[in-house]
Amino acid sequence: MSAPTAPIPPSAPPPAQQFASDNYAGICPEAWAALAAANTGHASAYGHDRWTTEAADAFRQLFATPCEVFFVFNGTAANSLALAALCQSYHSVICSSFAHVDTDECGAPEFFSNGSKLLTAPSTNGKLTPEAVRQLAASRSDIHFPKPRVVTITQPTETGLVYSVEEIRAIAAVCKEFGLKLHMDGARFANACARLGCAPADITWKAGVDVLCFGGTKNGVGLSEAVLFFDPALAEDFGYRCKQAGQLASKMRYLAAPWAQLLASGGWLANAGHANACASRLAHRIEPLPGIELMFPVQANGVFVRAPAALLQGLRDRGWQFYTFIGGGARFMFAWDADPARVDALAADVEDLARGRPTV
Ligand SMILES: *Cc1c(COP(=O)(O)O)cnc(C)c1O
Repeated sequence: MSAPTAPIPPSAPPPAQQFASDNYAGICPEAWAALAAANTGHASAYGHDRWTTEAADAFRQLFATPCEVFFVFNGTAANSLALAALCQSYHSVICSSFAHVDTDECGAPEFFSNGSKLLTAPSTNGKLTPEAVRQLAASRSDIHFPKPRVVTITQPTETGLVYSVEEIRAIAAVCKEFGLKLHMDGARFANACARLGCAPADITWKAGVDVLCFGGTKNGVGLSEAVLFFDPALAEDFGYRCKQAGQLASKMRYLAAPWAQLLASGGWLANAGHANACASRLAHRIEPLPGIELMFPVQANGVFVRAPAALLQGLRDRGWQFYTFIGGGARFMFAWDADPARVDALAADVEDLARGRPTV
């Protein structure tokens, strides 16, 4: 029996691109095609399918190491389950005061670890430093304080900065000294690789990272984040953790197939490179303007702009959407599909407002 097919109503033209977040973008065509290609016939469930095997192998090849690979639906789950895997409830996790795990995950890392405390290091630019890690790790060693166990860094940071290989190595050295594991929130990991032009291994396991959450959502993969354990022992029972948290996809092939495709083709890096280039494009145009200040050097796919309140309001009046949750400046994030003409339109509006030209 075939189900009646209702006609799909014609869709309205999409609204103009906004750069408030890089997760406003859709799934990239290559990932979409991979989903369609995987959408044939039956396949074993819960990751026992050929796409999941292919994607996991593609990660091992890309990172040139036999890591353990898991796929979950979003970044909050990836981070908080990874941190929970590294901690007992009485442990603590050292992070920057800008860290997504602290500011934007609704307590999920504490929840999934049954209470591991986040210890935030004050930061002015989002980066964690070896000194800050040392200070927190050495601050207390008595039984009344949660025992430091993990350091987490975000690559690139929530402020769009990229840790160099040397910076990661320096943090890892302090971790080693204090017996701490190193976790990397790589929600935009591809953007860091595109910026540094290095092998993914160079800024992860070779530099001392134990666990990486490699973001697919913001990269154009779709609804999937990969969790990579470079020390397989740390991945013990992680599958159970995912299942208990409601993060074990029965139709895993749909989380995995886009990854398999983008890793094989290099699309993951091309997407990130394009996004980074669009951020640079905006930054170059607006940086010289009066009253405009870039809050952080532009090293990945985000531009953070300090500007007079009237100018920001002017942008809103012209229809631009953006957040100001980081230091009150406007945040613009670019995705794999950012349209350079639309970037230029934003730049032109900033320029008009900065030069006091009237809104037309
Ligand atoms: C987007 C993002 C995440 C993941 O967020 P979800 O909404 O849970 O997918 C994690 N870390 C950082 C730094 C992010 O920007």
